Amino acid sequence: MSRFFSERYAALIPYTPGEQPQERKYIKLNTNESPFPPSPGVTAAVEEETKRLQLYSDPESKAVTCALAEHYHLKSNQILVGNGSDELLNFAFMAYCDETHPALFADITYGFYSVFCELNRIPYIEIPLTDDLKIEPADYLNRDGTVFIANPNAPTGLALSKGNIEDMLKARPDRVHVIDEAYVDFGAESVLPLVDRYENLLVVQTFSKSRSMAGARLGFAAGSDALIHDLNTLKYSTNPYNVNRMTSAAGVAALRENAYYREKAGIIMENRSWTTAQLRKLGFEVTDSASNFLFARTDRISGGELYRSLKERGILVRHFEKPKIDDYVRITVGTKEQMEALICETKIILGDDAV
Ligand code: PMP
Repeated sequence: MSRFFSERYAALIPYTPGEQPQERKYIKLNTNESPFPPSPGVTAAVEEETKRLQLYSDPESKAVTCALAEHYHLKSNQILVGNGSDELLNFAFMAYCDETHPALFADITYGFYSVFCELNRIPYIEIPLTDDLKIEPADYLNRDGTVFIANPNAPTGLALSKGNIEDMLKARPDRVHVIDEAYVDFGAESVLPLVDRYENLLVVQTFSKSRSMAGARLGFAAGSDALIHDLNTLKYSTNPYNVNRMTSAAGVAALRENAYYREKAGIIMENRSWTTAQLRKLGFEVTDSASNFLFARTDRISGGELYRSLKERGILVRHFEKPKIDDYVRITVGTKEQMEALICETKIILGDDAV
């Protein structure tokens, strides 16, 4: 830290992204990216757009916003696109939380939520998951504050139903519920269809996972036109050109080629079932994930040791040194070949390869 750094941020512990190693080629199962490249139209659209880089991007990102509105049967003033969903989540914390409106979220969830709170000096309450790692909606009802739920949750992969969330929206019309659906396309139920009916619902999604665009940084928030207006106030006070030209063009093309992404999500879900069954055969407890990752533990080896041993063998998974979950590893579901390699190396590490 320099001696000039503001005291305001001196104690801030930033979010630690998963490793992105450049030096060695790993089978990368640590940051929940898609193993599949973007669809052909996306690559072509990005290339075409590079010809206009001398011009600023459209601050309203009209083309991709309208394409999203059409795709999800919403109006364009109910949508705001962002530089990854992280940016929109940060806006939501800024917009709906303060000293008198603490943020409420699970004790085990996306690690960025608490960082956004620290950054923006927002008080927050972490609500423990149940012993079987689930979010219990009743635990949120009698506490005041703005609710943030990753659905499916990360890193557990477990999802609430649309009905569960609708009950929460009805029970507390006086507060905003931010539902972070980063992984929803892998088998969970989206609450996007509820946006028209509940003014206290903000849904956040990303193109980083099911749409193979993590490197492009595109997310969107959907809510009432009033909520979107709030977020726009923050956007125009931060970075009016938040989504670059190539990314907007890529987003439009990806929505046009939705069938490609549905097919790839289907493959990932099949690979998820296969890998879950294999890990369970090896004695792992694996949550019933509705996302593109698995959350697994076993009494046979600690989470940290499994993470290190797999890394030595060229496979990167994610391990969190955090109470309650340091026994677990989070494994991104990749191609069948990648999953076969994971199971094969895990068997060797456990000494089951001779069986
Ligand atoms: N929400 C959750 C639950 C996530 O796991 C992630 C990915 N790290 C994000 C949001 C952010 O995704 P992005 O900024 O790439 O859209």
